[in-house]
Amino acid sequence: MDPAPRDEASGERRLDEVVAGVFRGPRSFTGEDTVEWSCHGGAVPARRVLDALIAAGARLAAPGEFSLRAFLHGRMDLAQAEAAADLVHAETESAGDLALAQLSGGLSRRVKALEERLLTCVAEVEARVDFAEDVGGIEVPPHIVHAISEVDLELNALLASATYGRALREGARVPLVGRPNVGKSSLFNALLGEDRAIVTPAPGTTRDRVSEAIELAGLRVTLSDTAGLRDTVDPIEAIGVNLAEKALDSGTVVMWVVDGSETLEAADRRIAERLRGRKVVAALNKADRGSRVAVAEMAAMVGGESPIVTVSAVRGEGLDALRSALAERLGARSAEADAPVTHPRHAEALDRAQAALRRAAKAAADNEPGEIVALELHEALAAIGEVTGKAAGEDLLDRIFSRFCVGK
Ligand code: GDP
Repeated sequence: MDPAPRDEASGERRLDEVVAGVFRGPRSFTGEDTVEWSCHGGAVPARRVLDALIAAGARLAAPGEFSLRAFLHGRMDLAQAEAAADLVHAETESAGDLALAQLSGGLSRRVKALEERLLTCVAEVEARVDFAEDVGGIEVPPHIVHAISEVDLELNALLASATYGRALREGARVPLVGRPNVGKSSLFNALLGEDRAIVTPAPGTTRDRVSEAIELAGLRVTLSDTAGLRDTVDPIEAIGVNLAEKALDSGTVVMWVVDGSETLEAADRRIAERLRGRKVVAALNKADRGSRVAVAEMAAMVGGESPIVTVSAVRGEGLDALRSALAERLGARSAEADAPVTHPRHAEALDRAQAALRRAAKAAADNEPGEIVALELHEALAAIGEVTGKAAGEDLLDRIFSRFCVGK
């Protein structure tokens, strides 16, 4: 006996009761005619409906295919399509908010405004070139030079926001480094608010990296307690030191812990050398035992941009100031934090645009032929165009849309 219910009129087998929504192009998500089927929840109805649709000639969408079609039909630009993927992968509220802002075209609008300004510059430079054929070269007028430098400043601001943007999207890694026994594990625990790492008075007891994520100014920040950076003969401790070196290289910002109750040692100075060129937040720990290290002495070693915060890990003092200094070092308090550049791809393209723009400015300042200036401006425009996808090749599209989940 066939137990499956049948449709009275047609006699065909009933699979489920569904709602079919019809979205007509070009105002649908992809810009094409689309039908959306809503079936009852659960694996059986979904599979039955899917099987029936496939039998009728439909096929499964490739990852990112809906967004790719939307992009190809001009329903969204590339930065927006990437934001759709970011929204799906967002791990914190702020990352979700940021993806939504980008999805509605926040970054795209800023980038397009820059494009417009550069296009005006190129048009004027090229017009002058056309009318000055016999002169053998033209002077680029001051208002164009000024416009170029303004776009340069805008690019600067966008690029400066990239550290924070990336941290928002991917989370930030912050290793705690310092010589043994300065209180790295204690500070790590204090920042996490629990006894996560082993604390002992014997130097060199933190042999592994212990990592734990906290949320800071909307960022997912993974703190890692590392073995003290020092020369060691103990092979197991040496592995820890090795891992600490690696953590140091991969960190977004490095938290350098110093025992502020003792004068600085040669080992501290060697670590300072090692941190040169990195983004650092320095913690002068053990403040409850007095202070033997001057902030100015530290500032001379880590540079003026690195905040130096006095804390006591055991008493829990100065932790809020330390968190807030860390958030600031990650760019969370900058003016650009509302619409930062979130993708390394965007940052890289904008970086190239800026380099070309600077070459254009230099060529103009050196009174080189207008053609050279126009050429560099075109190069800057092409690089900026990559952000919104005007100049996107097939392999770039493949790379971007393969990040999506199936059916997005
Ligand atoms: P690490 O080797 O750098 O990870 O240092 P630990 O966190 O293991 O701490 C080494 C020793 O310093 C332990 O005895 C801690 O209790 C002590 N210590 C850590 N932070 C402080 C602090 O803020 N004040 C005082 N007085 N002692 C601390």
